[in-house]
Amino acid sequence: MRENYKDFDTTELFCPQCKRAVAVKKRLLLILKEGEKYDYSCVYCGTSVGDKLVKDNENSPLIFR
Ligand SMILES: [Zn+2]
Repeated sequence: MRENYKDFDTTELFCPQCKRAVAVKKRLLLILKEGEKYDYSCVYCGTSVGDKLVKDNENSPLIFR
């Protein structure tokens, strides 16, 4: 991977409905005391394909369900 990946939050994720990697929309879901939880949904069918907890001082990796 090149470094143009560094700040690219809306990457492609696998959508079980479309059965392929799709572009996703990021949406703020919850604000928790440990950070902000974002939901990623498929731009085509709207299915939630993953979420991510962003902490105040660090970026946590994507958590896939
Ligand atoms: Zn989809």
